[in-house]
Amino acid sequence: MPPSGAKTDGELPEAVMPTCEIREVLTGQKALVTGANSGIGKAVAVALGRAGADVVVNYNSRPEAAEEVVAEIERLGRRVFAHQADVSREDQVQAMFQRMFQEFGTIDILVNNAGLQKDAPFDQMTLADWQLVLNVNLTGQFLCAREAVREFKRRGVVKEVSCAAGKIVSMSSVHEVIPWAGHVNYAASKGGVMMMTKSISQEVAPYRIRVNSIAPGAIRTPINMAAWSTPEALQELYKLIPYRRIGEPDEIGRAAVWLASDDSDYVNGITLFVDGGMTLYPGFESGG
Ligand code: NAD
Repeated sequence: MPPSGAKTDGELPEAVMPTCEIREVLTGQKALVTGANSGIGKAVAVALGRAGADVVVNYNSRPEAAEEVVAEIERLGRRVFAHQADVSREDQVQAMFQRMFQEFGTIDILVNNAGLQKDAPFDQMTLADWQLVLNVNLTGQFLCAREAVREFKRRGVVKEVSCAAGKIVSMSSVHEVIPWAGHVNYAASKGGVMMMTKSISQEVAPYRIRVNSIAPGAIRTPINMAAWSTPEALQELYKLIPYRRIGEPDEIGRAAVWLASDDSDYVNGITLFVDGGMTLYPGFESGG
């Protein structure tokens, strides 16, 4: 007999999501989340707030969506404000960090989440499509990580706050390792995020700065609505996911809390795949 809830004859068990409370492992820490007014970034910002952090909610457009996130984190009793900045613009990134230092004094946690897609068949991809995706997804992470590392090095470890002088969590993707036809600019940007994250980590680990990535699989957000908004699309998607369900943004939030907390203090330069097994070569499920 299969264990209770296991898959039987093509029928899928009902998806059950984690509901346990997030522990307060980030009390008083100062966090900045980029692209935090939507999808994964929003869930990460709220999860960090639930874990006790004060939060800067970065956004580029739709201030009203950012204010909703601010209100949700305020209800948790944390300090929080929204700040508009295009992460691909050096002057805007630097101004955002300066404001954070004025209002919160420092930064302990950076979540480099902002990202976008601009898909096209390769031979029709314009230079502008290529540059937009690389500028936001890769250069944006470089600019924010550099400002954070400067502050982490200046300030050093404050042992009452954290074992580490600072933590960076880079939002990568399963496409840091899975090639993606029709999305060459996106896959190249995430491959770059992987190697940038590991290289920064190697360089700054001696300063007790931890830099790690999360590689989400298919998470239910606006970026990939076409892949989950109809039952037919979901059935197609499940062929790529051994765990046979889509991920929810809160599940990435929980992973980010762990990577930002002292619970993961000996974890450096990894990619944490949160993907229901998408990177397990599901095409080989039936023996290859
Ligand atoms: P989303 O479209 O809901 O959110 C993207 C966020 O980035 C938005 O808040 C957007 O405004 C912001 N952003 C875009 N350009 C910006 C800029 N120039 N400056 C500042 N912010 C900017 O999508 P999401 O799914 O929540 O994506 C978040 C991250 O997760 C991205 O890096 C994405 O590549 C990654 N990711 C998502 C999935 C998924 O299945 N949803 C899978 C793998 C990786």
